[in-house]
Amino acid sequence: MQVDRYKIHDIEIVIDRIEINAGSKTRLNQSLQTAMKHGKGTIMVSEHKEEVKAKKGTKPVPDKAVFFSRSLMCPTTGISYDEPAPNLFSFNSPYGACPKCNGLGEISEIDIKKIVPNQKLSIKKGAIAPIGEAKGSWIFTQLAAIGKLHDFDLDTPFDELSDEAVNTILFGSDELIKVKTDSNSAGYTVAFEGIANFIVKQAEENPSPAAQRWVQGFTNKINCPQCNGTRLKREALYFKIDEKNISELSEMDISLLNEWFKNIEKRISKHQNIIAKEVLKEIRARIGFLLEVGLDYVTLNRSSRSLSGGEAQRIRLATQIGSQLVGVLYILDEPSIGLHQRDNMRLIEALKNLRDVGNSVLVVEHDKDMIVESDYVIDIGPGAGVHGGRVVLGATPKEMLKLDTVTAQYINGKKQIEIPKQRRKGNGKK
Ligand SMILES: [Zn+2]
Repeated sequence: MQVDRYKIHDIEIVIDRIEINAGSKTRLNQSLQTAMKHGKGTIMVSEHKEEVKAKKGTKPVPDKAVFFSRSLMCPTTGISYDEPAPNLFSFNSPYGACPKCNGLGEISEIDIKKIVPNQKLSIKKGAIAPIGEAKGSWIFTQLAAIGKLHDFDLDTPFDELSDEAVNTILFGSDELIKVKTDSNSAGYTVAFEGIANFIVKQAEENPSPAAQRWVQGFTNKINCPQCNGTRLKREALYFKIDEKNISELSEMDISLLNEWFKNIEKRISKHQNIIAKEVLKEIRARIGFLLEVGLDYVTLNRSSRSLSGGEAQRIRLATQIGSQLVGVLYILDEPSIGLHQRDNMRLIEALKNLRDVGNSVLVVEHDKDMIVESDYVIDIGPGAGVHGGRVVLGATPKEMLKLDTVTAQYINGKKQIEIPKQRRKGNGKK
């Protein structure tokens, strides 16, 4: 058989024609195996209807071919997908990251208003912000040449330029332009790439902080249109569990996610249950740790730069609770900062759990609940800053309250800071 080697061919091999009845099982089995082997895991089954077969002398017309595949393949289009691996679901891995935004979820988009902030200015007076005022440089020579083609000069106010001219300035043109300079009367023929295109190229190719800051001056960060800000490749989002893909799950806050996982076993198949058993145990434990430290309102896709100091510290704490290490000394500096008072006890319980599995927890804290709930208090004072630094007391909270130290007096209510009767009036500004 001779086929054109420069074309892509679909080659189908007929392995068997078989009429299905009670005795055909063994033959069907063998034929399917042979077909799977030759088709590298993919087979096509054509069903022939009775009446078509009955017409003698005519070729039976296939009544819709059905594909079967061992790999992940779309039966209609024949597009096949790679076997999923953990890194397909991570935007930190090139296998999972959206190719357009490299897994960042946002891209820089040119903002024309930032490139030309004042349309009343002429190009010579600095209308085009990225290149500033005219200084006789090569770029202005090129712009002057473009002006000759589009009926403007460098003194024309920018808002009087035609749309076509603006388009060429920003996005370049496929036509070559002829640029003449005094020193070269013959002139050069050049392709103008466009100011906006130049900025985009810098954004993509020049990683230096100075260049990136320059680029940011003329662009806006927008949600990546390809992944809609999910940061993941389209293929990763095709995988769903009970109608939800990984991105939809990471958009849920921890308490919602906890609810979703609650009876997931009932919503997946028996086979999936066997696979998921250990994984679900892990996931539930981790969600539990985050709930313990009062982070029920945080979503998994929150960027770390948007977290408060207390939140970040408590997430690290949740990781530590999950690590199940023993014999570790944890030192925390005011972990209750940013935590709502009602969640204080949950945090204290989490710290006690760390202690109970065999660790030591040393907390620097001003919070009353935390001090009272501790096993041992080291009171450092007597005053603040230069007036302190001496160990005033080392005792259990119970013993401490019997003594008459300043801290004890405040804790048992002998002394307190009164709420001021008069408040300073604001100046109206916020
Ligand atoms: Zn993207």
